[in-house]
Amino acid sequence: MTKKYRAGILGATGTVGQRFIQLLQAHPQFEVTALAASDRSAGKPYSEACTWRLPGEMPSAVKTIVVQPPQPPLDCDFVFSSLPGDIARQSEESFARAGYPVISNSSAFRMDADVPLLIPEVNHEHLRLLDTQRVERDFEGHGFIVTNPNCSTIMIALALAPLHARFGIEAAVVTTMQALSGAGYPGVPSLDINDNVIPFISNEEEKIETETQKILGKVSGSSIQAAEFAVSAQCHRVNVSDGHMAAVRVKFSRPVELTEVRDALATFTSLPQEMRLHSAPPQPIIVRGEADRPQPRLDRDAGDGMSVTIGRIARDRVLDYRFVALSHNTIRGAAGAAILNAELLAATSRLGRSPG
Ligand code: NAP
Repeated sequence: MTKKYRAGILGATGTVGQRFIQLLQAHPQFEVTALAASDRSAGKPYSEACTWRLPGEMPSAVKTIVVQPPQPPLDCDFVFSSLPGDIARQSEESFARAGYPVISNSSAFRMDADVPLLIPEVNHEHLRLLDTQRVERDFEGHGFIVTNPNCSTIMIALALAPLHARFGIEAAVVTTMQALSGAGYPGVPSLDINDNVIPFISNEEEKIETETQKILGKVSGSSIQAAEFAVSAQCHRVNVSDGHMAAVRVKFSRPVELTEVRDALATFTSLPQEMRLHSAPPQPIIVRGEADRPQPRLDRDAGDGMSVTIGRIARDRVLDYRFVALSHNTIRGAAGAAILNAELLAATSRLGRSPG
């Protein structure tokens, strides 16, 4: 039997860190061998450092792992990062410099010109940036940084990708309703969010607008030529535990029938499905016809949390079409996305430090 890659998790005690541990507990290719978090946690066994907040028990395999500071060396072949953005920049760079592949969920490097902002179904060819990154940044051995998008951007870009490929998008207007777990733990104070909607999430609108253009851009030489259509985003925090929703309106470059829009979304599959990557959902996009779907409680776990559910597809009187998208923000929007990225990197022999 092939030995598994040994994974470290930076930010292992947090909302996304716990999701990594849950999703990796029976993974066929990766096993968790190192955990890192802040000074508050470092030096303690994980069972003491972490208050487990997901349904079910903390996996027993991680309970005795002693939490380390997020600095190399760590006892692993590569690291997943779910550190806060301001900490991530220095920490992730130091791991890549020391020769560790870094598969990050943080925002620190997402918009750097030589860093892939990867959704395996959408822009796997952006991994070509790694050749430039290694040379320009002078990372040791197998070191590199690959990122996944912001938790709302990922479902928006996944939904827009097949539409842009078939019809050309001229403009997209997005209004999000984002879950509480997107703010980490303890997140938004209950007295602020009960009986309320907060129309502000720091930097979120800018992230959706710029990340979407990078993800849907094309590789040109050693950089990405961003998609040229404008994206306008407004973001709201709502009183939902998990599952981000986005109401999306799009303008196309040519006349398009409603059935074509539905078909482009419902039939979309890509490389991860062809390669049968472990975390790839059979349907990256699930189209629902009911008048009142998607809903966070009913649809966030579709495809084990890795599918985006789309409903309410209709003609729009101002732009061309509109629809509502929903996905699980800590699975497809965070830990699950990074794990799928790692599976693609392993399957394409880029993960380095072959286990054995
Ligand atoms: P969180 O629940 O607040 O967890 C933060 C983690 O980082 C904890 O493990 C914490 O360790 C560690 N940490 C905090 N300050 C640190 C420091 N100074 N040095 C080292 N480690 C430190 O946050 P989260 O929601 O998991 O988010 C983590 C990252 O993922 C952020 O960059 C966020 O933007 C991104 N993200 C989150 C979501 C989501 O849905 N929540 C989705 C996509 C991306 P201690 O427990 O020791 O303090």
